[in-house]
Amino acid sequence: MRLSRYFLPVLKENPAEAQIVSHRLMLRAGMIKQSSAGIYSWLPLGYKVLKNIEKIVHEEQVKAGHIPMLMPTLQSADLWRESGRYDDYGQEMLRIKDRHDRDMLYGPTNEELITDIFRSHVNSYKDLPLTLYHIQWKFRDEVRPRFGVMRGREFLMKDGYNFDLTKEDALHAYNRHLVTYLRTYERMGLQAIPMRADGGPIGGDYTHEFLVLAETGESEVFYDSEITDLKFGSRDIDFDSVEECQAVLEEFTSRYARTDETHDEAVFNEVPEERRRTARGIEVGQIFYFGTKYSEAMNATVVDNEGNKVPVHMGSHGIGVSRLLGAIIEASHDENGIIWPEGVTPFHCGIVNLKQGDAEADAACDALYKSLTALGLEPLYDDRNERAGGKFATMDLIGLPWRITVGPRGLKNGVVELTSRRTGESEELPPEQAVEKIAQIYASL
Ligand code: ATP
Ligand code: MG
Repeated sequence: MRLSRYFLPVLKENPAEAQIVSHRLMLRAGMIKQSSAGIYSWLPLGYKVLKNIEKIVHEEQVKAGHIPMLMPTLQSADLWRESGRYDDYGQEMLRIKDRHDRDMLYGPTNEELITDIFRSHVNSYKDLPLTLYHIQWKFRDEVRPRFGVMRGREFLMKDGYNFDLTKEDALHAYNRHLVTYLRTYERMGLQAIPMRADGGPIGGDYTHEFLVLAETGESEVFYDSEITDLKFGSRDIDFDSVEECQAVLEEFTSRYARTDETHDEAVFNEVPEERRRTARGIEVGQIFYFGTKYSEAMNATVVDNEGNKVPVHMGSHGIGVSRLLGAIIEASHDENGIIWPEGVTPFHCGIVNLKQGDAEADAACDALYKSLTALGLEPLYDDRNERAGGKFATMDLIGLPWRITVGPRGLKNGVVELTSRRTGESEELPPEQAVEKIAQIYASL
């Protein structure tokens, strides 16, 4: 993309309404625009990152055998009356009437809808296990929408639902989700720690929240510092193997890591003092096993191998897709702007032409653009007639991990400059080598 033809409405001033750095940077980098409280338009740059995040989420779900689909945002109130949640949900639920005076709502989550789909089509244990998921907009009329996309009213969520014959099978689905989430967040350059969360009215130990440590996080968390040394990495997991998934769960959840809701000072004190940490965290996902709560209320049963009708065991598993943009920026920025991890960056690299209009510099930039594009990479070429300082500032603000700087002086020696946004380190090298290096970095992801 040539910047002169793109739509990148960057702001020079710090927007007064933004209290935290990710919100400020998303506004300044022209990624989002508020349309009303907690509701945003996703401008081209923000939309690109959102799509990249979605893609990673999809890929990791599909690897585990989970099946993508799409349910609507607007739902009929009837299903929610069946589950009993129409009254329970309270003011967070946006209720709407259609022209026939029927009660509708903008879905805050989808347990009811998916359970209805399941019961309409699945009758036998032979069709289990089954995990369906979608990535769809949700609406929760939060009392205090704030921090930009971090706590919006309309937000994008991946929500997945498993249906299993037994509790054991459903716990395997739970573990499978834990594994997929670890890998998903790592691919986005994030460390998200699974922490024991509050089971809510259903109780039980079967829920974990994934938290990214950040000063601006809304949750207070307590953990054993050993947990931050754990990496999931690129290990190959057999998702059908109960033992393998269980082993990952044990590895990542055996140390103390809890949110304030489940924190137990006495247990925490058993962790050696030098390893005890208190911090703040951003919840970027949650997994939940809730047994037969919805299947009993909504009569979602299957016939088991002895001919008995039994309610299925279910769980639901969410990832805050739009919140993740904020979380990534909170975890990865400096005083000049965003620093995108390679896994989610909106463009693979920037090209800065120091002397726009100089025949040689223009030709070198065009050639770089062509070779990068031919390799399947997407550069953002700043071809505007602006001074170098302004171009660098824009590149730093929008946070592309790599920048190639092209100027007449370097070209005389046959070199361009390749700069890492993260370290600020630059090296001079021939254009072909710069291209090759960038290609290698992305190929290794
Ligand atoms: P919170 O405690 O932050 O209100 P939640 O526990 O109610 O979130 P879940 O129902 O677990 O949220 O939803 C799954 C994920 O969706 C959360 O882990 C979070 O990342 C994201 N999410 C929830 N509410 C919002 C919101 N208002 N804006 C943006 N993302 C959200
Ligand atoms: Mg949650």
